[in-house]
Amino acid sequence: MTQLAERLSRISEPETIKMAKLSRELKAQGIDIADMSIGEPDFDTPAHIREAAKKAIDEGYTHYTPVAGYADLRQAVVHKLKRDNGLEYTPEQIIVSTGAKQSIANAVMSIVNPGDEVIIPTPYWVTYSELVKLCQGIVKFVPCSIENRYKITPEQLEAAITPKTKLFMFSSPCNPTGAVYSKDELAALATVFARHPQILIIADEIYEYINYVGKHESIAQFGELKDRVVIINGLSKGFAMTGWRLGYLAAPAAIAKAADKIQSQFTSATCSITQRAAITALTGDLTAPMAMVAEFKERRAFVYKALSDIPGLKVLEPEGAFYMFPDVSAFFGTAYEGNTINNATELCMYLLHKAHVSVVTGAAFQQPGCVRISYANSMERLAEGMKRLAEGLGKLK
Ligand code: PLP
Repeated sequence: MTQLAERLSRISEPETIKMAKLSRELKAQGIDIADMSIGEPDFDTPAHIREAAKKAIDEGYTHYTPVAGYADLRQAVVHKLKRDNGLEYTPEQIIVSTGAKQSIANAVMSIVNPGDEVIIPTPYWVTYSELVKLCQGIVKFVPCSIENRYKITPEQLEAAITPKTKLFMFSSPCNPTGAVYSKDELAALATVFARHPQILIIADEIYEYINYVGKHESIAQFGELKDRVVIINGLSKGFAMTGWRLGYLAAPAAIAKAADKIQSQFTSATCSITQRAAITALTGDLTAPMAMVAEFKERRAFVYKALSDIPGLKVLEPEGAFYMFPDVSAFFGTAYEGNTINNATELCMYLLHKAHVSVVTGAAFQQPGCVRISYANSMERLAEGMKRLAEGLGKLK
């Protein structure tokens, strides 16, 4: 028998990816699935960015690049952080990677030692805890309540901190809840962090542009924290560029240097052509991404209304990202054809196989009473998905 490394037993495959795989398998069998499990914009990458990539190929940008990314790309990220966030960085503090996921991995590997505690408010994005476990850190989940719109309070944060706490990780806008932290809410958390100078913060801002309540706020804006925050961002969600693989971190120089060193042994760098296109994305005007956000906003209204009309679901109108995260626990204990549904995972399997609509179990995000519904799909497919969901749930008695 093949003896695999022990670290494999510490982590699991993301439930989101598992669900996408299952949906694909059913589709391959000719079954029409209303796919609401996907975590990516359905739009094509804007034309001016695609053109920049074609030009890069013709101009011969086909070789290895510096590990941290081309110098003018790192400068473009600096420009973006100033333009959109009012934050001052130098190119040495920017490391470009193959996606926000790799940037988070670089940061976690640069920061977490075995035995370090890492606070993660839940519901949270599936990858954070697994990366911490790969580094033999200790994950401390802090469950956030629907009453507080699934955001951690300063009191909860203070209570979770111990002398071993090394890192805090969160996303705003949040996947899976769509929660967006306001400036006041971040300031209140910053006050707690100010009392605990040993704690670093990973702020995942990949959904920055997909925000329906106003301006994006970064926790790095609080001067006393700037040297302790690693901002994670990238082009996947805001520019509909998931397949291009481009993320970046902006960090204190020592962490950026460490991320560069780690990345130099894993991927060397992301694709040269992607990098050239990214300069166009980051320095060009934002009409195209904002048009996508306007479209997401209409879909949000539609899906929110449809879910609110289904008896038994408890749903918040999300402030950002492209997910709804309804509480489905009213359906636990119901049955179909004599089979009882005991939890959200079983409910998702029932919906997939019997109603042909795919959504992701909240268990994946440490919120077992909920499911995640992505509205990154056309209005037509969303209407179909909502119909199947309502009918499927309606059959449970
Ligand atoms: N962070 C969050 C919160 C996400 O939801 C995702 C993708 O689903 C990522 C990071 C990964 O982004 P990328 O495709 O740039 O690696």
